[in-house]
Amino acid sequence: MRIAVIGAGTMGNGIAHVFAQNGYKVNLIDISQSSLDNGLATITKNLDRMLAKEKITARDKEEALHNITTFTTISEGVREVGLVVEAAVEDIDLKLKIFEELDLGCPRDTILATNTSSISITRIAGATQRPDKVIGMHFMNPVPLMPLVEVIRGYNTSDKTTGTIMELSKNLGKVPTEVNDYPGFVANRILMPMVNEAIETLHNGVAGVQEIDTVMKLGMAHPMGPLQLADFIGLDVCLSILNVMYNGFKNPKYAPSPLLVNMVTAGKLGIKSGEGFYDYSESKKAGKVAARFL
Ligand code: NAD
Repeated sequence: MRIAVIGAGTMGNGIAHVFAQNGYKVNLIDISQSSLDNGLATITKNLDRMLAKEKITARDKEEALHNITTFTTISEGVREVGLVVEAAVEDIDLKLKIFEELDLGCPRDTILATNTSSISITRIAGATQRPDKVIGMHFMNPVPLMPLVEVIRGYNTSDKTTGTIMELSKNLGKVPTEVNDYPGFVANRILMPMVNEAIETLHNGVAGVQEIDTVMKLGMAHPMGPLQLADFIGLDVCLSILNVMYNGFKNPKYAPSPLLVNMVTAGKLGIKSGEGFYDYSESKKAGKVAARFL
């Protein structure tokens, strides 16, 4: 089956990598040529790393890269695909527009999946004439390494569509887990309040960046502290997810921390912008706390 992946950013290039490495032909689509170039460079770098660790052969790497074709327009890239996985930015209006376009441009049987972190699958499905074939396929970051796929059934998603996506996820070597369509689904409904609380704990002066992360790493056996994780996910992504849950549940417990709002407004988005709670000007690994929080 040929797959289209929309968006070649953090998640899109990882999703394309995993499909291509498992023998699927992938059309990787992004409106930005530089995102496509960066995406392919990241895939090559990650395949090289797997090759160095002898997890794949040189031939596996060549085949995976050969399986990927890039496009800068959706209409060209989705003509003959059996599945689309949308991983463009977390913006409802953009996703509605993309799904309208996908519905017009894809064959009638194509399943339209979205990697959204929090936006209603049922709402996205409403932009199409095939709500039974619209589903959430929520990969985790970094996609080549993380085993979970949160499979989200919209109100109208059919059993057939869900079954196909569960099987396909298993073919990628992932562990699909089925959940229902409520704001934040399961992963972010539980994760984001913790991240937000860590930011509020910092904002209230209870402890510093490193102290908060150390407590959660060494005390709760989390591989990364919540502030480091927020930088890794992207503070803009965290803010949009919290806003979706805040608006969706009308419950103040999901209100984003004012510090998070300020940082996103100031363009401090974490690793991708070079600064968040930590400073990434020298290395993408969190080491130095950002000067503002010292
Ligand atoms: P990103 O900003 O890294 O990448 C988004 C890409 O989409 C960019 O390359 C951009 O050029 C492209 N794009 C924008 N508009 C487009 C359009 N109309 N057509 C095609 N491409 C377009 O974002 P990301 O972090 O990869 O997030 C993508 C999706 O995955 C979001 O819905 C996000 O919530 C979700 N997600 C993110 C994470 C994470 O850890 N970052 C984890 C799980 C899910």
